[in-house]
Amino acid sequence: MGKGVKMVQQKLMANIRRQLLLQMEHLQIAADRTAGRIKGEAGNLADFMDQAAVEHDRAVELAIRERERKQIQEIQETVLRIDHGQFGLCVRCGEAISPKRLLLAPMSRLCTSCKAKMEIHRNHRGHCIPPYTVSEDYAA
Ligand SMILES: [Zn+2]
Repeated sequence: MGKGVKMVQQKLMANIRRQLLLQMEHLQIAADRTAGRIKGEAGNLADFMDQAAVEHDRAVELAIRERERKQIQEIQETVLRIDHGQFGLCVRCGEAISPKRLLLAPMSRLCTSCKAKMEIHRNHRGHCIPPYTVSEDYAA
């Protein structure tokens, strides 16, 4: 690996790390709000709202909270991987994951070919994480 490539990767990693921490902050604020709604809602609206609707909203909130928690956990794991120098390496075959893929999906733990193999087994289920947005400043 050339020196230039390494510098690009370090810049990329620092950038991704910073964005992950920002994203985690936002998620944590959202998660706190969701938790507050779940607590506050119990019983309050039941008088004038259909109980089934309340139950439904609650289920939705719980699902949101679960997703937020999962996302926070994934970000924490990714930051740890960066700090331990394991970021960008496929956990399955140990090959370097392409920087392009990392930019689009920093939480990637698998290279494209391993991912493709996994997708066949997983049948595309459970992928509800919104696409990761890349900040403008990295494009420069
Ligand atoms: Zn791989």
